[in-house]
Amino acid sequence: MAQILADRRDIDFVLHEQLGVESLAKDERFADFNRKAIDLIVSEARNLAMKEILPTQVDGDRIGARFEAGKVTVPESYHKAWKALRDGEWMAMNEDPEVGGQGMPRVVANAASEYLMAAGVAFLMHSGLTHGAGKLIETFGNDKQKKLFLKKLYSGQWAGTMLLTEPDAGSDVGALTTTATPNGDGTYSIVGNKIFISGGEHDMTENIIHPVLARIEGAPAGTGGISLFLVPKIWVNDDGSLGEPNDIVCTGIEEKMGIHGNATCALSLGSKGKCRGTLLGEANKGMSAMFLMMNDARLMVGNQGMTLASAAYMYALNYARTRIQGRSLLKMRDKNAPAIPIIQHPDVRRMLLTMKVYVEALRSLSYYIAYCNDRVALAADPEEKDRFQGLIDFLIPITKGFGTERSFDVCSTAMQVYGGYGYIRDYPVEQLLRDVRISAIYEGTNGIQALDLLGRKLGQNGGKPIRDLFEEIHATLTAARGVDRTAPLAEKMEPLVLRLEEVARHMGVTAMYGDLLNAAAHAHPFMMACGEVVTGWMALWRAQIAAEALGKGAKDKDAAFYEGQIKSAEFFAQTLLPVAMGHLEAILSGSTTANDILEDSFGGK
Ligand SMILES: Cc1cc2nc3c(=O)[nH]c(=O)nc-3n(C[C@H](O)[C@H](O)[C@H](O)COP(=O)(O)OP(=O)(O)OC[C@H]3O[C@@H](n4cnc5c(N)ncnc54)[C@H](O)[C@@H]3O)c2cc1C
Repeated sequence: MAQILADRRDIDFVLHEQLGVESLAKDERFADFNRKAIDLIVSEARNLAMKEILPTQVDGDRIGARFEAGKVTVPESYHKAWKALRDGEWMAMNEDPEVGGQGMPRVVANAASEYLMAAGVAFLMHSGLTHGAGKLIETFGNDKQKKLFLKKLYSGQWAGTMLLTEPDAGSDVGALTTTATPNGDGTYSIVGNKIFISGGEHDMTENIIHPVLARIEGAPAGTGGISLFLVPKIWVNDDGSLGEPNDIVCTGIEEKMGIHGNATCALSLGSKGKCRGTLLGEANKGMSAMFLMMNDARLMVGNQGMTLASAAYMYALNYARTRIQGRSLLKMRDKNAPAIPIIQHPDVRRMLLTMKVYVEALRSLSYYIAYCNDRVALAADPEEKDRFQGLIDFLIPITKGFGTERSFDVCSTAMQVYGGYGYIRDYPVEQLLRDVRISAIYEGTNGIQALDLLGRKLGQNGGKPIRDLFEEIHATLTAARGVDRTAPLAEKMEPLVLRLEEVARHMGVTAMYGDLLNAAAHAHPFMMACGEVVTGWMALWRAQIAAEALGKGAKDKDAAFYEGQIKSAEFFAQTLLPVAMGHLEAILSGSTTANDILEDSFGGK
């Protein structure tokens, strides 16, 4: 079975033809990252993924993380893969070399991560969270914390986690009850129970550093009274040596549907009154600090969805080309007609094309956000910085919320392409479908993402980010109108964009001055509609570049690839766009039924 994981031609297209990322090398900071260097990094990541990470995928699923007497073990291939990540310095690709990173543009790191993640998402979560914990320390830590922890995390010598959730504080993090009491020596005594902690305990590293949300005694209720603490599994002495084990007990790990190789731990902190931590950042500002990590983690989860969807599409495509079943509809009466590969059946082509459109659009979206991050990092002009940051902020709930929902659909469609074999463990899409499902739930459920889009992002900075986004989309419409083959597609796309602008105004007004509950009931459809428009935008942008390349005489494989881009945009405009338009009409109709229905009328009584 071919293991392609991701379409390299498509990755190169997004990097070099759509985003032109080598232009980042004009800035001194990224001067080393010319086309040759970028291509080499992506190739190296692919090799590493195939050789070292891919074995973790099946082992993680079949052997899984195991729990015995407070200890968690992971399969041997995880240890090997972790060492390979460390040896190759893949943990902090886009961080400053001064603090142990590789200094590469984020968009390049994104491309490399695509291969790594597609090869073993449950394994790679460990390094993603480790990097996130390091980033928190780099941004909010004092000199001592940076000295003790930063390089050890960025190098993967130690691992990191993220401790927010408690039994009664899931989506509502502000309800947490974990407490922190000053010890008088600069440390705090932490007491509480955290659940569902990814990689909360394992045997890959000698130490695990937990950023923990807790409330300092006497602090206000709600999110405004939450602080962030660094709580190591093993205490780290001032000289960097390891001290006593901290009072943290893993009381169990969850049996779950997918990502079996990543232990989801219940952690008891301070049950003996001896769990120590240090304050990270300012007291009572823990939530805003944690948002930094959560935003990165939300992008990571959006990428998890996209990479698994991409792998599922590659597997399904390969299967459809080789599985022989049934005869051509046009030769139904001919008993001697040969059986054909299922890729020739119209319904299978419909499924493949639907998957192709979403995978490509989600890849473009993911890389675009990473590229915006690079533009933020390089921008000297504060207005330009704000514009790119606003675009990132607005697109995060879309890539996480819409992206993971569509990624699940893609994995499910991949299973359908396989027929019965898709449901069987011997074939890879069964695991991909199980593994991808969590992406819609953790890191803020997609319901919470939708509320974030409506409640925070839509009105952020007087609505500037969404206006900037529409400006970008209109620029693509204008460019596409100037190319013969994409002009009709732009004509079809424009009414959808204009309708979304109207719906966005309607949602903003309803949420602020009308009926908050009904705005909330339409928040998820609104997020999905934004995602559909972004999908159409990306498809059109790609098609316009492809049409220009064809106009310049692209040949053979390249010509087929570019034709495929135009077909994706055509399929979106003719088949998916009307459905998206229908969703926008439904939002505008302002149905109040979801709120009107009596609880007893849901049935079941
Ligand atoms: C495998 C796995 C790994 C995880 N890893 C971590 C981790 O590393 N660190 C960590 O801290 N947490 C982690 N989590 C926890 C995860 O982030 C939470 O499960 C998630 O945030 C939802 O919280 P909950 O499970 O309590 O569901 P609830 O908050 O009870 O939500 C249940 C349902 O109600 C909806 N809902 C709740 N409140 C609202 C609201 N105000 N408005 C609209 N809808 C609402 C939700 O969208 C959802 O559909 C993990 C969970 C799992 C399953």
